[in-house]
Amino acid sequence: MLHYPLDNLLPVDAAGYYGTYGGAFVPEALRANIESLDFAFRRYVNDPDFRLEFDRLLHDYVGRPTPLYYAAKLSAKYRATIYLKREDLNHTGAHKINNAIGQALLAKRMGKSHLIAETGAGQHGVATATVAALLGMKCTVYMGAEDVRRQHPNVMRMCMLGAEVVAVSSGNATLSNAVDAALQAWCENPDEMFYLIGSAVGPHPYPEIVARFQSVISYEIRKQLEAQLGRPTPDYVIACIGGGSNAAGAFYHFINDKEVKLVAVEAGGHGVDSGETAASLSVGKPMVLHGSRTMVLADGMGNVSDAYSISSGLDYPGIGPLQAYLAEQGRTEVIVANDDEALAAARRLAESEGIIPALESSHALAALEKMEFNSEDVVVVNLSGRGDKDMATYLDSFS
Ligand SMILES: *Cc1c(COP(=O)(O)O)cnc(C)c1O
Repeated sequence: MLHYPLDNLLPVDAAGYYGTYGGAFVPEALRANIESLDFAFRRYVNDPDFRLEFDRLLHDYVGRPTPLYYAAKLSAKYRATIYLKREDLNHTGAHKINNAIGQALLAKRMGKSHLIAETGAGQHGVATATVAALLGMKCTVYMGAEDVRRQHPNVMRMCMLGAEVVAVSSGNATLSNAVDAALQAWCENPDEMFYLIGSAVGPHPYPEIVARFQSVISYEIRKQLEAQLGRPTPDYVIACIGGGSNAAGAFYHFINDKEVKLVAVEAGGHGVDSGETAASLSVGKPMVLHGSRTMVLADGMGNVSDAYSISSGLDYPGIGPLQAYLAEQGRTEVIVANDDEALAAARRLAESEGIIPALESSHALAALEKMEFNSEDVVVVNLSGRGDKDMATYLDSFS
């Protein structure tokens, strides 16, 4: 069993700013909640009992460490040494469970009885419903009505796990509207409810909390590379970004190793200039969205635009403040993958390695087509989740 360090290696100040991004823009009704969350997190993240429970659940319940798989066929095709970090093999099928366990353990210790969450593809809703069942807590999940339709298998899973799923039909009825609804519910009942945010977004300290719980991914990558190659650092780490949590986890223990190139892949949708995109780093501007200042898709009037991607986990008009900062600093290289490129990458992985990736993860795989490697390069692609939930979309698009 691994003992995860969870230490703070982030470029964040005490007010929750990553450069000019971040902060905590919340209504007065939530200020006390955010403060008690911050206090509880800093207390328990250093508490040996909390840490042991986190380590044990990740090992025995989630199935960590997840394998670092050498993908021989991809390596031959792209002429580099390519590894896949298999977050798809986690219990519930994606990286989201790592953070859900951490936050739920925190909620329990704070005396909360009711977890609320937003979800896009449904992976975070399933992860939250799962930990709520595990820890004996009530669970309500807010989900855009359009996503309820697209991600029906995950809706059924949440119901089976005993969660209440609330379909939100405002706006374009996707993730961003579900976040608004969850924030609203939290404002109305802040004492019993714990808002379990699923990505590295929202007001401080959420982006930091999520990144630190997800840091288990890169902690394992270092150990696994050391064991398999005799060195802990790769040349590239590639991850898709929706809100930026799987990327935060995959990049975390490499942020200060400047020789490791970090590649963030955002969803282009039908193309960054098509008006139907989710590429907030490429075409967004700095604004406050859902409690933090970050890069946001907006129209000429400064109104938040609807994001579009074929992948429900990536069609969010914002991005976490850490990713906005790393991109601005040039610490990450940002690559855009469009719907058709992600679909083609999914098919390639399925047919060459026998792994069906989540549509979100397929965007990270699509970046391989756009990069130039030399034969010595060691590349880690974070395979954030599995594709079961996306089968209808895949089959439709290939027919
Ligand atoms: C939710 C999700 C994402 C996008 O969220 P991040 O916070 O950017 O990681 C990516 N991949 C999968 C499989 C997801 O479920």
